[in-house]
This record gives sequence, C-alpha cells and structure tokens, in this order.
Amino acid sequence: MEFDLIHRHFATPFSALAHANGGTVIAGIGDDCAALRPAANHVLYVSTDTLVESVHFFTTDVPAVVGWKSLVSNLSDLAASGANPLGFTLNLSLPHVEEAWLASFSSGLLEAAAQYNCPLVGGDTTSAGTNLLKTISITVFGQAVGTHTGFHRSLARADDEVWVSGTPGLARLGLLLEYQCRGQLDRCCEPSSLQRVEALLGALPEALKNSAFQALQRPLPRLELGQRLHSVARACLDLSDGLSGDLLHITKASNLRAVLSLTALQALWLRKWPELSEHIDADSLLETLVFTTLEGGDDFELCWTCPSGQRPAKVAAGVAQSCVGKLEAGEGVWLMQHQDSEPIRLESRSYVHFSQGLT
Ligand code: ADP
Ligand code: MG
Repeated sequence: MEFDLIHRHFATPFSALAHANGGTVIAGIGDDCAALRPAANHVLYVSTDTLVESVHFFTTDVPAVVGWKSLVSNLSDLAASGANPLGFTLNLSLPHVEEAWLASFSSGLLEAAAQYNCPLVGGDTTSAGTNLLKTISITVFGQAVGTHTGFHRSLARADDEVWVSGTPGLARLGLLLEYQCRGQLDRCCEPSSLQRVEALLGALPEALKNSAFQALQRPLPRLELGQRLHSVARACLDLSDGLSGDLLHITKASNLRAVLSLTALQALWLRKWPELSEHIDADSLLETLVFTTLEGGDDFELCWTCPSGQRPAKVAAGVAQSCVGKLEAGEGVWLMQHQDSEPIRLESRSYVHFSQGLT
C-alpha cells in the first residue's frame, strides 16, 4: 500500500529525474538510496526541517499551500547559504491515508520542486501510530562552487551594513488579514489594540493586501539573490522568525550590535506603496507595518551584512535590496527612531517553540 501511495502522489518518472539539473540525479525514488552527482569542484550543502500539524501548519490550511511552503522553506536555507538545489527527500508520518489531502499537498510540493529544479529523490512514509497529527520532514541537498566558503553568521564585522531583500513582514501582514477575514483577529492581537489594528488593516491599499496574501501563501526562495551575494555578503540568513530575532543570531555570533534605522524600515513599505503616506493615520499604519517587519516570520527574504558602500554587482531579477542598518561594537539589536537620536534596544518576541528556549 505504501509504495502505491508514493507512486500515486510523489514519484516523478525517473526519465524526468535523470534530466533534472543537467543529469545530477543518478538514482531516485524506487531504489534503496538516491544518488546525486554534484558538479566538479562544488561543495555539498544539506538542510533539514520538520513541520508538525497544529504547530507549523493548521489542519485547515490548503494542503497545496502546505506542500509549496514546506519545500520553499528548505530552499530558502540553501539560498541563504548561496547554494543551488540538487534534490530533496521527504519523510511523511501520517495518522491515516487521506487521498484528497495527499493529492493536494503533493501538487503544491511538486510544483515548487519543478519551478526550482529540485527533484524529489526519495523519502520514507510511515504510520503515525496513535499520534493523530501529520509530520512532514524534508531534507534538501544543494551545491555551490568550492571557492564560495559560505556566509557564516560569525563573519560580520563592525561597520558592516545590514541589508534585506523585498519587504520582510508581508507574510505576517497576510496572516493578520487572514485572521481578520475569518473573524478571529482576537487570536493574534491584544484586546486593547484590536479595534485599532482592525481599522488599520481596513485602510491598507488593495495592492498591498494582495502582496501580503501572496507572501503568506506563496513565498519565494531567493535562490538567485543568494548566488549574486557570493562576492558581496559576509554573514547571511533567511528571515524565518522576524528581522529583530533573526538578526540577533548574527550579532551574537559576531559579538556586535545591530542598529536598525526606523526611516529605512518605513521606506521598505513606502517605496512600494507610496500611497500609505497619504493615509490620515499614516504614522500608526507605518508603525504596524514596521512591527510586522521586526516580528513577523515566514517571508523567507534574505538578510545579509556587507562592507559599507558595497552593492551586489548585479541585482537579482525583480528583487529589491535595501540597506536598513549597520553593525557596530556592542550587543543586541537596536532601533534608531530619528537620525541622531539614542537607539532603543529591541527585545525579540520571535516565535520560541519551548519556553526553555529551544528555537
Ligand atoms: P526501504 O524499505 O528501502 O526504506 P521504502 O519502502 O521505505 O524503502 O521506500 C521505497 C522507495 O520509495 C525508496 O526509494 C524511498 O526513497 C521512496 N519513498 C518512500 N517514501 C517516500 C516519500 N514520502 N517521498 C518520496 N519517496 C519516498
Ligand atoms: Mg523506508
């Protein structure tokens, strides 16, 4: 039964696999091991992630969206390392076989696999036993030229600039809008701020709302940008837990402090949606949007540091890049509200899985 199920939903014909990525897949689904051939003088990159139902995705989520996002979150780790995909494996633990869920999940998953040239080369499918929740585990394999030594979090230096791609925070905004659509905004807002947030969400331009839903349901891994950053970035990571929390990883590893500019964070939004500044309550609106940038995860935009004045030689197609702050001696992540004002320290409220602090 298990093998039938794999074939029905996941097996890409081997002939298609064999041609994927210029012949890097030598053996795939159906053999005991997958075999991948990285290009000559390339280094292998590996990243793995587990998604648990009710923790990382909702039972009510569209399965195709879960499928797309579960691969993209792994591809984003490759992007943040400057690597390109070679293939991935999928481990599924299921309480029971739900054909409709599997068909939809695999359609989203394999769509991302095709779009980013990352074939599914194997995996494992098990019964969850008495556990009633689905678990999805993905391991992605990638490669990068051997001369690229990776972007380590400890490589940032004082005076580096802090850059981000796109508009981080859009996915969190999409989540707020989704809760609002379902009439469940109270689940993610303090009762005291509910009315204010509701009014602000109602005031957002339609184009911005659409981009926010897109970022939530179909985030894109910044693989091309990761390549372009090879000779530019020192430290780099993908934003999965919000800028303030993720940047803390770099500041801790490099023993520095990051000072973000509020004006630059607001500009991430104003540059794309200038009409925001015309709103009668523009200040509150921007405050909420900057909050989503600092606290909201799952955008999979990249954040990197580079020597000041250095810009990528070639801009990755359609992906904005913005300098939002700088690094200096000290610790933590800080926000400068006005030019020449004293920065204030930001406490990370990024999502922490266990109260003991395992992230
Ligand atoms: P084994 O007994 O050798 O572990 P399995 O019966 O678990 O083999 O799997 C048979 C083949 O199907 C293997 O090639 C394995 O990689 C593949 N496979 C199993 N589950 C999945 C899955 N969820 N996605 C992709 N391939 C899978
Ligand atoms: Mg097995």
